[in-house]
Amino acid sequence: MFKKFRKIMNTYDVAIIGSGPGGYVAAIRCAQLGMKTAIIEKYSTLGGTCLNVGCIPSKALLDSSHHYEDALKHFEDHGIEIPGEIRLNLEKMISRKQGVVDMTTKGIQFLMDKNKIDVFEGLGSFKDATHINIKKNDGKSETIEAKNTIIATGSKPSTLPFITLDKERIITSTEVLKLKEVPKHMIIIGGGVIGLELGQVYKRLGAEVTVVEFMDRIIPTMDADLSKELMKVMKKQKVKFELSHKVKSVERKGNEVIVKADNKKGEEITFTGDYCLVAVGRSAYTQGLNLEAAGVQLEERGRVAVNAHLQTNVTNIYAIGDVIKGAMLAHKAEEEGTLVAEIIAGQKPHIDYNLIPGVVYTWPEVAAVGKTEEELKAAGIEYKSGSFPMRALGRSRASGDTDGFVKILADKKTDEVLGVHMIGARCADLISEAVTAMEFRASAEDIARMSHAHPTYAEAVKEAALAATANRALHV
Ligand code: FAD
Ligand code: NAD
Repeated sequence: MFKKFRKIMNTYDVAIIGSGPGGYVAAIRCAQLGMKTAIIEKYSTLGGTCLNVGCIPSKALLDSSHHYEDALKHFEDHGIEIPGEIRLNLEKMISRKQGVVDMTTKGIQFLMDKNKIDVFEGLGSFKDATHINIKKNDGKSETIEAKNTIIATGSKPSTLPFITLDKERIITSTEVLKLKEVPKHMIIIGGGVIGLELGQVYKRLGAEVTVVEFMDRIIPTMDADLSKELMKVMKKQKVKFELSHKVKSVERKGNEVIVKADNKKGEEITFTGDYCLVAVGRSAYTQGLNLEAAGVQLEERGRVAVNAHLQTNVTNIYAIGDVIKGAMLAHKAEEEGTLVAEIIAGQKPHIDYNLIPGVVYTWPEVAAVGKTEEELKAAGIEYKSGSFPMRALGRSRASGDTDGFVKILADKKTDEVLGVHMIGARCADLISEAVTAMEFRASAEDIARMSHAHPTYAEAVKEAALAATANRALHV
């Protein structure tokens, strides 16, 4: 009976649950390696958080709002005069963003077709370790058989236990990407990546923005000098910061949102606004997967537990991206997708997690790779540091982007680059030079002796390397 059933059931070498950057890249790599591959996505568009409600839409709004701010505040400096009022059309800005998202998610569908990957729309859940049920939106179900499965179900916004997200005025990153009006006063809980990127968007569009952060600095996991400089610049942009504040209640009264927090002294501080963005991190998403049926274990924070090969406790089931430990970044998920596909194909790939860069797409952009000064100190590693300010670059003066610096940390004895931390124009792209250098275990002197085109922002990397090598930066 079961044999007969198997004949009509779709059987795959690999099934991937979730089509975010982890899942779809894993699918492409599996297909490239000759495996019969299926991808299951519960939503009607592919691309996951990143393409639909994350990286891509947030960057589209960052770019649009940056143009608006330039038109309002900076064109005049360049001798560009716009007669009449410069007006914001928020509806058009949001719809352009959606257009970018739609184009990008369709691109993933194209890639799936090109690589002959079967796409199943529906909620994937384990029946056992080799069978996945797909529950479609019309209520119908289908089962596929998979020799190997990759769980790539990503993450969802975290919240605080006392907060009721009404998704209208008390919102997460998903809703803030499609507001119908510019808030008068947006209170942001969390001075991490989402709070700062999306806070900057709405600040540029005219909102008052207050960031309430629990720690004593913003972007607390990055190098402290970056936190300091970014806060300095964003304060100049009139974003308000309330550090060392523990939020204890968030309440909506009509169109008002009231946030109460205790400051460092234990005093209760009340913030009143019309929107509250809750941006206190994200948590692994495993709901509906029925992991118990396959026997897959979770670790304490609800993430899927994996070994160094990203294999769960069930040998033919792997997990990648936001649903497992590590940085919640699209490019980390992509590397893991490739790694698992190659492991299943019998190869021996490797990821150096120390060399996964982190970027905050505010302006100035913040980017880093390797160890922070705090981490080196804690590990007792002796290091030297070289910094170079962006304002000393001809390129920065030409564009008017003079905020920020590049800092290179190198081993005191060997001169090997251990960490690169930068804030300034186009640092999101500049960080790739540091990743390449560190991948090849470059010394600061190696970078310092490489020719960097003039005039470019990249010259700050060479100058910081010169400063780290022998305190001999040329242009300061
Ligand atoms: P996801 O992208 O979350 O995809 C998981 C997919 O699985 C989803 O489509 C989900 O619907 C699907 N799924 C879940 N359960 C099931 C199921 N049972 N059956 C079928 N499908 C299922 N990272 C960066 O590197 N750079 C950025 O600039 C950046 N910006 C961001 C901005 C915002 C506002 C947010 C929220 C995140 C941002 N991130 C950024 C983080 C990035 O989006 C994530 O790290 C990345 O999307 C993780 O990829 P993933 O493949 O692990 O999971
Ligand atoms: P995050 O971890 O970057 O920041 C959360 C912040 O909230 C932290 O600074 C934390 O100290 C603070 N916080 C936590 N609890 C608090 C409380 N009770 N009161 C006040 N502050 C509190 O998380 P996020 O900004 O929500 O982003 C989620 C994930 O999405 C991140 O892991 C990030 O990697 C990813 N992401 C990446 C990018 C990018 O790469 N550019 C952009 C957006 C999101």
